Amino acid sequence: GDFPIETDTIVIGAGPGGYVAAIRAAQLGQKVTIVEKGELGGVCLNVGCIPSKALLSASHRFHNAQHSEDMGVIAEKVSLNFEKVQEFKNGVVKKLTGGVAGLMKGNKIEVAKGEAYFVDENNLKVMTEKASQTYTFKNAIIATGSRPIEIPNFKFGKRVIDSTGALALKEVPKKLVVVGGGYIGSELGTAYANFGSEVTILEGAKDILGGFEKQMTQIVKKGLKAKGVEIVTEAMAKSAEETDNGVKVTYEAGGETKEIEADYVLVTVGRRPNTDELGLEELGLKMSDRGLVEVDEQSRSSIENIFAIGDIVAGPPLAHKASYEAKVAAEAISGERSAVDYLGIPAVCFTEPELATVGHTEASAKEAGIEVKAAKFPFAANGRALALNETAGFVKLIALKENGLLVGAQVAGTGASDIIAELGLAIESGMTAEDVSLTIHAHPTLGEISMEAAEVVLGTPIHTM
Ligand code: FAD
Repeated sequence: GDFPIETDTIVIGAGPGGYVAAIRAAQLGQKVTIVEKGELGGVCLNVGCIPSKALLSASHRFHNAQHSEDMGVIAEKVSLNFEKVQEFKNGVVKKLTGGVAGLMKGNKIEVAKGEAYFVDENNLKVMTEKASQTYTFKNAIIATGSRPIEIPNFKFGKRVIDSTGALALKEVPKKLVVVGGGYIGSELGTAYANFGSEVTILEGAKDILGGFEKQMTQIVKKGLKAKGVEIVTEAMAKSAEETDNGVKVTYEAGGETKEIEADYVLVTVGRRPNTDELGLEELGLKMSDRGLVEVDEQSRSSIENIFAIGDIVAGPPLAHKASYEAKVAAEAISGERSAVDYLGIPAVCFTEPELATVGHTEASAKEAGIEVKAAKFPFAANGRALALNETAGFVKLIALKENGLLVGAQVAGTGASDIIAELGLAIESGMTAEDVSLTIHAHPTLGEISMEAAEVVLGTPIHTM
């Protein structure tokens, strides 16, 4: 055997869960080792949040350049250098992952490259092709994330691709079929529709973007249709067959079997936790039947010195949720009394326009037996939205009936991803609708829509009857 290296806290996985946990544990005085078998930054920085947003923003510019006639902007001969788009995207990723490497160094965190496997509750092996090194640890934080689910008859290959494949295409597909209209499928569908692909989304459920309210998804659907995206709901994807220069997708909808020819089919039907190849079962760690690690409000598993965070535990599989749990776990290990409180966790869908939600919806409040008042204010009545020519959408606030305390907010519209931040802060800090209405918002800004929605809660709106 090898000589074990001793460390206080070992973190497995260097995504937004793992690398944040490592930094916070180091800040709190621990000797930290982080193990990563792939790239620093995890899914989020390398093949998730960041590259998808880089592609989306480039696609948005290309699309807008060609579609601003109603504002008097007529651009001729707009062209696309997709190789350059990919270079731009890769550059953004490189800057951020390089930043993480710098942060590891700056915080004196040892980066161990290789695949981690638990030997027992105090020892872990890090394996590379050539060697294996044992680490002896006091505490471990598992943050191994998730990977795309493969469905029967859609084996990933050259033409049947997952989100990682879709982010790395070398050409804009003439025709793209997206199986699964969740937020990843809808975002990537939007990006390629903007770049000029003819996109069809096949969704098994009654509607795309299942997690969001119908009034919100309606707005995105309208936006997608305006880009020429075809959305087929209650469609059952059956099989994909690679042809000489494309792929033939068979699906069932409305009692009929149909076929579409495409250049690529992107399958985004969900992700599964990376908890099956770590030796967790042998450890006796409690897991749910979906393979998620069971944890308490400090992210502690059924084994006292082992914590789990991010996509491998319950809750929305989102980067900021992973980072939030990371800080709580690192603090718990360091003896602090931190615990998670999920009410203020936002979720954003970066379609055009964007959707965002934080805290309760009207429906979830009702389900929880909380009496609330909901109020909406439209983008179309806001000066800035009109000046931007982005008038679709609304801000909706959910406040307690008895005292106006804000417990939730939903935003559909341009800039929703940023607008939701103020509303998250308001909820997190226990503000009422009156507090938001009394906050002076610069004019003309999209932020004013939140202020006006708060006035609607109070029954005294200025710009609506
Ligand atoms: P990950 O980021 O998955 O990192 C886990 C790391 O662990 C990986 O680097 C992996 O290589 C490593 N690992 C796994 N097993 C081992 C092992 N045995 N040994 C060593 N290392 C191991 N979320 C958002 O909040 N906003 C978005 O806009 C957004 N967009 C997305 C777009 C796409 C296309 C995708 C796929 C995801 C997106 N997400 C988004 C989700 C987000 O990426 C995840 O929620 C987030 O990355 C989870 O973080 P994590 O730290 O739990 O795991």
